[in-house]
Amino acid sequence: MTSHKTIKLKPKEGRRARAGAPWIFSNEIQMDGAAKTLAPGTVVNVAGDDGQIFGTGYFNAKSLISVRMLDRAGDVIIGTGYFVRHLQHALAIRDALYAKPYYRLIHAEGDGLPGLTIDRFGDTVVAQITTAGMELLVDPLLAALEKTVAPANVILRNDTPSRALEGLGEYVRAAKGESLRIALEENGVRYFADLTAGQKTGWYYDQRDNRAFMAALANGRSVLDAYSYTGGFGIAAAKAGAKEVVCLDSSAPALAIAEDSAAANGAKCKFVKADVFEELERLALAKETFDIVIADPPPFVRARKDLEPGAKAYRKLARLAAAVVAPNGFLLLASCSHNIPMERFAAECAAGIARSNRSAALIRQAGAGPDHPVHPMLPETAYLKALVYALD
Ligand code: SAH
Repeated sequence: MTSHKTIKLKPKEGRRARAGAPWIFSNEIQMDGAAKTLAPGTVVNVAGDDGQIFGTGYFNAKSLISVRMLDRAGDVIIGTGYFVRHLQHALAIRDALYAKPYYRLIHAEGDGLPGLTIDRFGDTVVAQITTAGMELLVDPLLAALEKTVAPANVILRNDTPSRALEGLGEYVRAAKGESLRIALEENGVRYFADLTAGQKTGWYYDQRDNRAFMAALANGRSVLDAYSYTGGFGIAAAKAGAKEVVCLDSSAPALAIAEDSAAANGAKCKFVKADVFEELERLALAKETFDIVIADPPPFVRARKDLEPGAKAYRKLARLAAAVVAPNGFLLLASCSHNIPMERFAAECAAGIARSNRSAALIRQAGAGPDHPVHPMLPETAYLKALVYALD
């Protein structure tokens, strides 16, 4: 049996981690010479000040989150078998939720694998690694994927800027097969996604249930899908019988994919390349309205220090979007910033809607779909917020 090196916590620290919390911060650790010289990402045993080992994790002295827990026993071997167990468990949950293999397969800590997300598109998977610890484990991870999912194509989409916090560079490569534009199916709608050049892993599965909710309202109504990206909301609404759909985004490549996806569904949509704030102001001046307005912007609060300007931007978006909702229409406002809590986001949305002299009833408060499980001791990983209002 191998024995990992041990990281010791300071006196009185580690109560949360012992109870199952997945992160230990650098100020909770006895950062002695031995700890500091461990290579970033080394698998370690974690012990209290009393020397009692209470788990296995990986350690990075350079990161504010110094330890991410991998198991609640010490000396656990983090190899192919470890990943096979986690992948099988995650697959069993998705099998219970979905009839087809299009979903987020691994949602980091929520699925017990910190620093890793995997999206599945049939026989193609896209993995994203965000920590030094997971980067060192890429070989057993790939071997375990082969044993469980046996995908034809495995793309490593390791190009998120957050990797810098762990001392990692950025790269994208196909670990198996090739990277391509793929087709996926969600809520019975066919979409295309570009897995290497698109944003994030190429597709946002997190909005699946919110797209279905809005599509169910869309029959016979006009829809503005602002920040449409590749048309997730808009095309679902068009397929559900919307009388008019406008997809609005500033990215020409995203709109080009949306156009192909709409055609594949026989759905009629209009595609407008513009800045959302400017276009909403133009529409309001022209007195053009839509029965349904969807606004799912990029994160306005990227870091905690951006909270106040970001909150103001959400309020402004709510005001401008509400102004182009037709009488008795519906408005969806979303935030994917984990740095703004739901209560604050809801307060900004309410203030913005009121500023445009509309009254609103909140008819849905939702987050990401169930293929984005939240670790019960890490509630801040519930990053997505979606609010749907019925306006007067
Ligand atoms: N609603 C989408 C996801 C939106 S992601 C879905 O269901 O998949 C955010 C999108 O906002 C991106 O496509 C990005 O190109 C776009 N975007 C960012 N800033 C913008 C701006 N100022 N005006 C218009 N679109 C913008």
